[in-house]
Amino acid sequence: MTVSEVRKRYLDFFAKRGHAIIPSAPIVPENDPTTLFTGSGMQPLVPYLLGQPHPEGTRLANSQLSFRAEDIEEVGDNRHTTFFEMLGNWSLGDYFKKEQLSWVYEFLTEELKLPKDRLWVTCFAGDETLNLPKDTESAGIWKGLGMPEDHICFCDAKKNWWSRSGTPDEMPTGELGGPDSEIFFDFQTPHDPAFGETCHPNCDCGRFMEIGNSVFLEYIKNTDGSFGKLPKQNVDFGGGLERLTSATNDNPDIFLTDVFSTPLEVLKNRSHKPYKNVERTTSYIKSFRIILDHIRAATFMLASGIRPSNTEQGYILRRLIRRSIREADKLGIKDAVLAEVAESFDTAYTDSYSFMQEAAGLIREELEKEEAQFKKTLSHGMRELKKMGDNIDAFLLFTTFGFPIELTEEIARERGINLDMNTIKAKMKEHQALSRAGAAQKFAGGLADSAKQTVRYHTATHLLLAALRKVLRGEIVQKGSNITAERLRFDFNWPIKLSPEQLKATEDLVNEKILERLSVEMKELPKAEAQKIVGTLSFNLSKYGDIVKVYKIGDFSAEFCGGPHVENTGELGHFRILKEEASSAGVRRIKAMLE
Ligand code: ATP
Ligand code: MG
Repeated sequence: MTVSEVRKRYLDFFAKRGHAIIPSAPIVPENDPTTLFTGSGMQPLVPYLLGQPHPEGTRLANSQLSFRAEDIEEVGDNRHTTFFEMLGNWSLGDYFKKEQLSWVYEFLTEELKLPKDRLWVTCFAGDETLNLPKDTESAGIWKGLGMPEDHICFCDAKKNWWSRSGTPDEMPTGELGGPDSEIFFDFQTPHDPAFGETCHPNCDCGRFMEIGNSVFLEYIKNTDGSFGKLPKQNVDFGGGLERLTSATNDNPDIFLTDVFSTPLEVLKNRSHKPYKNVERTTSYIKSFRIILDHIRAATFMLASGIRPSNTEQGYILRRLIRRSIREADKLGIKDAVLAEVAESFDTAYTDSYSFMQEAAGLIREELEKEEAQFKKTLSHGMRELKKMGDNIDAFLLFTTFGFPIELTEEIARERGINLDMNTIKAKMKEHQALSRAGAAQKFAGGLADSAKQTVRYHTATHLLLAALRKVLRGEIVQKGSNITAERLRFDFNWPIKLSPEQLKATEDLVNEKILERLSVEMKELPKAEAQKIVGTLSFNLSKYGDIVKVYKIGDFSAEFCGGPHVENTGELGHFRILKEEASSAGVRRIKAMLE
């Protein structure tokens, strides 16, 4: 089966069972400054799993574009990518274990036609000291569906428990959690005893692959440390789309699913090297996989409006691109290749995600630019690295050639050398502080003034967002922001060009709020409380009880923000919109200045 086919069958299957099919949330979480990327289908839905009503009802399903920077080191085996699609279905206080497990089983065996004897599951073994029962209910349901008893395994909370803060004992009071039941596909490859005497679903030898996981949110932690049953119980299912597709093809290599086939051909032709499935590898096959994964991720990021830069999402994007350039070099590909690989992804995904085709020109341009720039840096750096032999000086390579520290670390590791990263990082910090001090001296005065300007633009950006929400009467969220001492640039979700009247009304409203001389207040609050004030759907999986900063401008605006801001909007002067234009699909950009 193809990836599109599996996705479509899944969504149709759950639509037929009363689920609203919701769109994938953006890969950059909306209004959530504390996390860079959406890493699962559940992440954008956490507020609803915690009790907020969802406008689409109590049964939801989707395919979520997910990115996990933390999996970057795993890329190279046959089952991990940083970017993937996660199929998900949710019950918000609606159905529970019986329906969930029966449907998943039916989907896998009837829709995807996976052989029944190749499916294995794990269930929560319970925890006596915490008085949490063994999940015999789930196990009983699996058994009733026809799962052989020896295919049902019980594991402890490290494997089969979900909460935002980890195992039950790590959960704070008031936190929700519950057991989960993971499903594995047996590829029937021989067991590798290097991974232990006997094989089991959680064994890492490569025989079993986790294809999905049903989480049952049924407990709340009480003040006395005990666990109470929730009045309304939720289900969260997440399944790897590419892994499920691999299972239908009885081939454990996700890079051999159809979405990778044209890009893989490009790499085979350009490197004159064959490709085959290996479980995990240090050979050139790993280079193929890194480029395939990283450039697919980069393509989706660029299409979502992220641009290579030295901070946050843009930094991760740049790292993916640079790493791919190095791997292409290792494969012996001499000329630029990334844009061509990216283009074949555009084609593979255009039926499912039309924004990919719309962004094709831009993707090509950005990749060509980065590749041309970094190829030079790479060849200089590699030449120097060769000269250095075993005495690698990562700091010198960075300061003289702009050679990224992580890449030096990676190359050193490949040569069996462990760099002392702590010393290098300390040196980097010192270097940055010194160059900042140098710059401050050079532009004495000028810099202080420009810092004050950017603070004013920062506050103006909050006013602009609040004004757009009022004027457009929509759920406007920030999609990007860039401030210099001369102007602000602000990207937001809106499908069409703003009319001159809408722009005028926005500009006027901002100026009105400036003239009102509203005071700007900062509050540090626990996340849940801040959420109430800001009132948007921002949430993520970081630890419960996080303190976040909220900036309020009168009663006009309230946003999660690190600051700094002016104390009073009267300090801003007159606000003028210079330009309104498209930034990427579904995203508009406004440039404005204070005068
Ligand atoms: P693994 O242990 O294999 O890394 P996980 O425990 O991190 O998986 P979950 O967080 O439960 O996985 O995600 C739900 C599903 O998403 C998994 O069952 C798997 O099918 C898929 N998945 C997770 N991580 C990846 C990845 N890096 N690449 C491809 N698919 C993934
Ligand atoms: Mg994982």
